[in-house]
Amino acid sequence: MSKKALIVIDYTYDFVATDGNLTCGVPGQAIEGTITSLIEQFIKQQEVVVFANDIHFEQDPFHPETKLFPPHNIIGTPGRDLYGAVKDAYEKYKDQVISFDKTRYSAFAGTNLDILLRARNISEVVLVGVCTDICVLHTAVDAYNLGYMITVPKDGVASFNAVGHDWALQHFQHTLGATIL
Ligand code: ZN
Repeated sequence: MSKKALIVIDYTYDFVATDGNLTCGVPGQAIEGTITSLIEQFIKQQEVVVFANDIHFEQDPFHPETKLFPPHNIIGTPGRDLYGAVKDAYEKYKDQVISFDKTRYSAFAGTNLDILLRARNISEVVLVGVCTDICVLHTAVDAYNLGYMITVPKDGVASFNAVGHDWALQHFQHTLGATIL
């Protein structure tokens, strides 16, 4: 049986809260319960839970997102806090989970996620969080290229772009061979 890890991507205030700086809004808030239940389930089964959270510096001239999106998840701001019940679950289990910052869409880009998963013999990643068609998508593509099996619970991902969300779910299934729950 393959070992799996739950990867919680960018479920932060700026991406989820109604007044977040780059928010998915209501669709983002609607997946809070699914993500929280999965965290509880993985912890109970002693499986790996990883939080990967975007981090940026104000007006960073060297970052491509500076020209693409409003400032979000700026270091030292509450926009980087996890959101709602997911934040509570993180606080409850923070000694048992892995949490790191990422500076690009993919949780694998410029981080030690791959080596950390391989050290734990993990061959399957379960991806939740936001946005389905941006950071979840890029993480899924990297996971695919690195040889991981991928599962995406469709009630555990969301985007501010409904068309992009639907397209990404199709792409996960038909192009990356992901299991959609
Ligand atoms: Zn970003």
